[in-house]
Amino acid sequence: MAGDAALQRRTGVWWDLNTCPVPDGFDPRRVRGCIESAVHKQMGHRSKVVIYAMGNLEYISSDLLEEIAYSGIVLVHAPCGGNDFRKLLGEWSQLNPSSPAYTVMLISCNYTMVDPYLFRPTRFTAFCVYPKDSRPVTLDQQPVAQKVFVGEFVWETLLNDNITCEMMTVNEDEPLCICDICDDTFEICAEFITHLKSEEHIKELSDIVPRDSWYGKPMHFAMFAIIPATTIITCSSITKVKIIIARRIWLRKWLKKRIARAGREIHK
Ligand SMILES: [Zn+2]
Repeated sequence: MAGDAALQRRTGVWWDLNTCPVPDGFDPRRVRGCIESAVHKQMGHRSKVVIYAMGNLEYISSDLLEEIAYSGIVLVHAPCGGNDFRKLLGEWSQLNPSSPAYTVMLISCNYTMVDPYLFRPTRFTAFCVYPKDSRPVTLDQQPVAQKVFVGEFVWETLLNDNITCEMMTVNEDEPLCICDICDDTFEICAEFITHLKSEEHIKELSDIVPRDSWYGKPMHFAMFAIIPATTIITCSSITKVKIIIARRIWLRKWLKKRIARAGREIHK
């Protein structure tokens, strides 16, 4: 295939940061080069590889997120596993021809994402990567999985076998960071990280979570996740202080009355 024609084709890679973290001691800035090298080896030619590091990014260190983002990998805050991946793969399918000539790779051991039935309608050539000793059971869904995934790799092996010295640059036509909850994009990683901690983001999240049918409160979330903890503590503390003061005022008045009555009885 002519080089230019191959580069016209985009390969989509979704890297689930929650189940396939960067191994200890591995430089996060080298991950992109390793993935691209592995994809090119399998395809037999170079193509434009777009990598999305996805998952619940709220609890991943800011330094790690910045290193990943500035190596040219797109960060996607998508905490709902298979539900989010279904949507992302669907969007990719709309933008790219659904043909075996196009390649996709999923790096995850979350069985809701490694679901052969999500890939089957796309007809992409698909690869699956999972951590050592964590092969998803969904890959045993024969014969569907066999038809969908043409190759499997172990995450740590893929990284170690494809370490490259090539310097990576940012994909200029892709946004740097995406919040899938708020449907918002960010060009500056620090702004994205600040956004994940913002009240605006937390409110958006609390609006989409399932609610208790009786009280209407969000299920599966602690109270501090939807209302700043300081607010609760402050309200609670103020209420307690008010009660204590009111009791003391009432007690003082009651004592004064008792003393006054006792005085009147003595003078009788
Ligand atoms: Zn958000």
